[in-house]
Amino acid sequence: MSLRPYRDIHRRKSRQIMVGDVAVGGDAPITVQSMTNTLTSDVAATVAQIRQLEVAGADIVRVSCPDEASTAALKEILPEVTVPIVADIHFHYRRAIEAAEAGAACLRLNPGNIGSRERVREVVKAARDNNCSMRIGVNAGSLERELLEKYGEPCPEALIESALNSAKLLEDEDFREFKISVKASDVFLAVAAYQGLAEACDYPLHIGITEAGGLRTGTVKSSVGMGMLLWAGIGDTIRVSLSADPVEEIGVGFDLLKSLGLRHRGVNLISCPSCARQQFDVIETVRVLEERLAHITTPMTVSVMGCVVNGPGEAVQTDVGFTGGGRGTHQVYIAGQPHHRLKDADIVDHLVGLVEEKAAEIEADLAAAPDGLSSAAE
Ligand code: SF4
Repeated sequence: MSLRPYRDIHRRKSRQIMVGDVAVGGDAPITVQSMTNTLTSDVAATVAQIRQLEVAGADIVRVSCPDEASTAALKEILPEVTVPIVADIHFHYRRAIEAAEAGAACLRLNPGNIGSRERVREVVKAARDNNCSMRIGVNAGSLERELLEKYGEPCPEALIESALNSAKLLEDEDFREFKISVKASDVFLAVAAYQGLAEACDYPLHIGITEAGGLRTGTVKSSVGMGMLLWAGIGDTIRVSLSADPVEEIGVGFDLLKSLGLRHRGVNLISCPSCARQQFDVIETVRVLEERLAHITTPMTVSVMGCVVNGPGEAVQTDVGFTGGGRGTHQVYIAGQPHHRLKDADIVDHLVGLVEEKAAEIEADLAAAPDGLSSAAE
């Protein structure tokens, strides 16, 4: 029996656009986004949250601009942050123009709901003049009335038609610097809509399952929906939508991409669920370790296993491995090889030290490589 290469994901070929200095689509890494939930007019709170998202690794951050006070605040927010900012606009074409003029990297809007063709033209001009790209953001919950009447209910065809109608409005203005999303809270609906849209155009796609729920349910729904799409090569930028701290969305987004080998940022932790054979408290060790290793951005793999049943086998593939051994004597592996034993010590402190050391080594090797790669290249 011969199996096809089972890890290969062939990404759909999409056009590339820029969101500030971040490329989206084409062969650019799949980017991870989140959205602030502060009052945008509260500049200090919004800047603080964007900075938290930057530290968590966000590639792009979206900020709602529902009123003039928000677009005015955007002008003050942008110089304080480095990550490209997408202004989220609904209905008000003036807000879109103000956001573009304030320096937003991208406008998320629906050209179909900002009014006349003349208004669309003005928004496109402001975007073009200010190097601002766009996202056509179609949502099953806010489909145009004509489409709902035509199709009877939100369905993949309606979402795709809405997206392509909006794309046509921008194409008519000779504007193609945009990506598209067709989100729904129903996993089947969202996946079918994205699959159809992926075939119907070559624009980069922002994928997500909208209003997915709280931390646990939202993570599961998003992983199922986005997992299917990403595995099929669909998706150039992602947002995990959670009723939770936006910082969680970034962590879940990266974990999702890591699990499919599409992005390699930070520590990929392999750990066992623990059982009666465990030789140390695996669950507590992993809990604290995850917190203490959150600052590592270097792509690397670490295993933490309770005993020798599966520990040595997992450690072979890791940069740093740890396997519980009898009588409080545990085995540490470096680069897949048994390296030293650890007895009666603080396991977490010891592992954090080793991982930091290994991360510095990997970074130095990457920097010394002929093409000067760094983990930022991912
Ligand atoms: Fe249990 Fe050992 Fe397997 Fe962990 S590695 S689940 S402790 S048998």
